Amino acid sequence: MAARPYNFAPGPAVLPDVVLERAAAEMLDWGGTGMSVIEMSHRGTHFEGIHQAALDRFKRLLNLPTSHSILFMQGGATAQNAILPLNLLGQNPKCDYVHTGHWSAKSIQEAKAYGDVHVAASAEAARGATINGTSADWPSFGYVPPESDWQVRADAAYLHICGNETIGGVEYPEFPEMAGLGAPNVPLVVDMSSHILSRRMDFSQIDLAYGGAQKNIGPSGLTFVILNHEVLQARFPAPMQHCPTVFDYRRVLDQNSLLNTPSTFAIYMAGLVFEWLEDQGGVEQMERENTRKAALLYSTLDASDFYKTRVAKAARSRMNVPFYLPDDRLYPLFLEQSKAAGLLNLKGHKAVGGLRASLYNAMPFEGVEALVSFLRTFEREHA
Ligand SMILES: *Cc1c(COP(=O)(O)O)cnc(C)c1O
Repeated sequence: MAARPYNFAPGPAVLPDVVLERAAAEMLDWGGTGMSVIEMSHRGTHFEGIHQAALDRFKRLLNLPTSHSILFMQGGATAQNAILPLNLLGQNPKCDYVHTGHWSAKSIQEAKAYGDVHVAASAEAARGATINGTSADWPSFGYVPPESDWQVRADAAYLHICGNETIGGVEYPEFPEMAGLGAPNVPLVVDMSSHILSRRMDFSQIDLAYGGAQKNIGPSGLTFVILNHEVLQARFPAPMQHCPTVFDYRRVLDQNSLLNTPSTFAIYMAGLVFEWLEDQGGVEQMERENTRKAALLYSTLDASDFYKTRVAKAARSRMNVPFYLPDDRLYPLFLEQSKAAGLLNLKGHKAVGGLRASLYNAMPFEGVEALVSFLRTFEREHA
């Protein structure tokens, strides 16, 4: 097969060639069964093995404590915006959110239908002041609010953050400690759609994380929910009254995600990606590579007067890098020429405009080198 172009799409996104080749080779006959995984019963022994192996690998990659379990659900992160409050607000309607951009705004909006929503901190206002002793020049939704500004209600049912704002390109360099926020008993919930498995994360600090698989894991149609089942059982014994059974974390957990037919093919594909990740050296190795890739791209953008970025350096996403050209008329040309150079899907989200390169785990370093080389040439020709 000829080398494929580099795909910088935000999601669904690039997958490793070897994973796609393996899936292709197994498409008509998985493991000598004479069946495609797509054709197998979700309750048969073949799929049971595929499912369990995927879960085991995912847990190992995350270094997940025994207090935590993984659920495979459907509906994407968007469905979780409703499923989460439906599950956790059964006794106490108070829920706190941090607003850092497009995706946290969606979560906040949806939760309002179910609970008493309080925005504990927001990055909406631009800030040029000195913060914690360092001078800050932070545009609206271009930073993570400093924890000293957060006002988390100590009796909230949970605090929700979006770990990586895929559209704005804002990532938490680390997750907050709830005790340090004066809310030691409030569970921390993280939308991890676009940076799961991209760096080491300490799940003993995180009570629930969720996301769609299509950014950094595999095909769309699969949603992961990683939760502390001890906290769930002790603190959230029942969902809200009208929570659909298929969305009840307790029921899905009891049935090991087989309450109804799961997204079987997507689970199989995710399992192949997990196997590839383990072969690569796991999350630690991904963290090294992702840091290296992002550093190359940001340093190229920073060294240029032509390209502009807007996110505060401390909160720059290593997964999604938005950037801008000096003249709006250049965008169509940039997209046409980058595509011709084998660099796909660099258009920014319409909410923020500009360009965006998504550098998920499956984007090789060589892809970023090719992008950087194109950026330099384009600048030379149009500056
Ligand atoms: C893509 C994305 C979503 C929405 O995901 P769906 O699976 O399409 O519902 C939500 N949050 C974040 C951070 C995302 O990147």
